[in-house]
Amino acid sequence: MKTRSAALALTLSLALGLAVPAQARTADYPALQAEKLALQAKNPFMRLAIAEALEGIRQGHGGPFGCVVVKDGKVIAQGHNKVLKMRNPILHGEIDAIEASCRRLGTHDLSGCEIYTTGEPCPMCLAACLWAKISKVHYGCTIADNARIGFRDEAMDRLLGGRKGLAGYLVPKDRDACLSLFEFYLSLNPTRY
Ligand SMILES: [Zn+2]
Repeated sequence: MKTRSAALALTLSLALGLAVPAQARTADYPALQAEKLALQAKNPFMRLAIAEALEGIRQGHGGPFGCVVVKDGKVIAQGHNKVLKMRNPILHGEIDAIEASCRRLGTHDLSGCEIYTTGEPCPMCLAACLWAKISKVHYGCTIADNARIGFRDEAMDRLLGGRKGLAGYLVPKDRDACLSLFEFYLSLNPTRY
């Protein structure tokens, strides 16, 4: 893992389209390529969610899941998966972002807010979005994609009866960019949980 400041500088360089140091180009080429593609998401809020996820991955906090809560076109708060950092199995990106948004707005009610998340929410986070009254969920990778990189959302979802009837609430967005984020995550040979 790189140091936090070096990693952040690299992310910013990529986000701003600046030149990347030659050393980083040769040493981390596949990861760098995946990271660059991930940051090319078309939607600006999804791009922010991806940058948040990249930061969490680099710090070893958990899976490649970053989230941004938006209200009236403005970012309320961001969050990312901190399961490994906090040794807390329920500290998923959506939970982190919802908690931060509630603190920021001083309310438990996020009516009128929408969430952008790099991976389709697991059953727990989907319920949390509904409890928080978030009006729409924009997700990058699908729960099938989550399963392909080692997460158990899909199996849990089957156990709970699936998510038919949520079309319109769950809105796919920038899947290709988020798949590149997953590729970057896998390139670091991450701890599975
Ligand atoms: Zn979750």
